[in-house]
Amino acid sequence: MKVSRATGSHSPRVRTRVEPLGGKQVAVGSTRVRGSDRRGSASTGAHDEDRGPGTPNGLLGPRLVAISIRVWLVAALLAAIASCSTGEGREREIIVTTNILGDITRSIVGDAARVSVLMAPNADPHQFALSARQAAQLEAAALIVHNGLGLETGVRSNVESAEQQGVATLAVGSAVDPIRYRDNDSPDPHFWTDPVRVRRAVEVIRDRVIEQVSGIDATAVRGNADRYLTELDTLTGWMRERFAALAPEQRKLVTNHHVFGYLAERFGFEVIGAVIPGGTTLASPSASDLAGLADTVRAAGVRAIFADSSRSDRLAQVLAEHAGLRVRVIPLYSESLTEPGGGAPTYLAMMRANTDAIVTGLTA
Ligand SMILES: [Zn+2]
Repeated sequence: MKVSRATGSHSPRVRTRVEPLGGKQVAVGSTRVRGSDRRGSASTGAHDEDRGPGTPNGLLGPRLVAISIRVWLVAALLAAIASCSTGEGREREIIVTTNILGDITRSIVGDAARVSVLMAPNADPHQFALSARQAAQLEAAALIVHNGLGLETGVRSNVESAEQQGVATLAVGSAVDPIRYRDNDSPDPHFWTDPVRVRRAVEVIRDRVIEQVSGIDATAVRGNADRYLTELDTLTGWMRERFAALAPEQRKLVTNHHVFGYLAERFGFEVIGAVIPGGTTLASPSASDLAGLADTVRAAGVRAIFADSSRSDRLAQVLAEHAGLRVRVIPLYSESLTEPGGGAPTYLAMMRANTDAIVTGLTA
């Protein structure tokens, strides 16, 4: 499990720096919060704080020294007060990369802290990137929750950069016993298609939030998590019942990329193949890839191919039409939630919609 700890995240560094004011040296308190240090230091230029409260020539008289000390003490006191209010007064948020993990984290956190989700509805987690504002927001987070295992390629460097600034992060995928792709042995990041692994994810997120977000109502978070775990158990039981309508020989999945490996393992499906090779949506199939897959699909007697609703299903259509296969292309919400009011506004709704679509697609 890849977990890094924030260092000094609750105690912004306080420094004083000396700036010339009307010919005297006056100490000015400056409170700096992690993340803004470098730019701030660079802008202080020639009269940098590291020189300390001395003078260039050491010629201050006793009275000036006394004034200087008093001003310095007041400044230090103000800086200490500012330090306290930075830690407690300003709300520090939990930032989540994908919208699926965002929904799960919000269900756990409830009103106990602010949760921001970076990935827009209907976006592709393999391809979304951050705005400059979002990237800066990451560096001030109390905790970053991300999927990891190579899923969010476009934000990996942003998360690593925040980590280097001392921000606490949680790579949820690494903590839920990930499986590996058969063809290239890299870890499969799509663990959320297995609600039992999501159960483990909830426990991991719950514990990390309580540990990392100072002052959070831990009792409320535990209560929320318990309620959500119950809902996940209900979902898992319901999925087992629904899939029981499929005979073992019907439980064959072809998808537009390898997204249902965990679901297949949990509920006894066989993954026949994927239109896009590898574990991301970033690769492209060659003509021979498609021809080979068409042969496999034909031999297995598969009648439906499942494509993600957030992606173009063009390639799946190409496979279905040009390979002369009599298959239907059925959209699933496999990688992204929809807007509220769409077909999959929450993780639980997404799983129910997909289960119904798979059962219908493989029996119709
Ligand atoms: Zn994917």
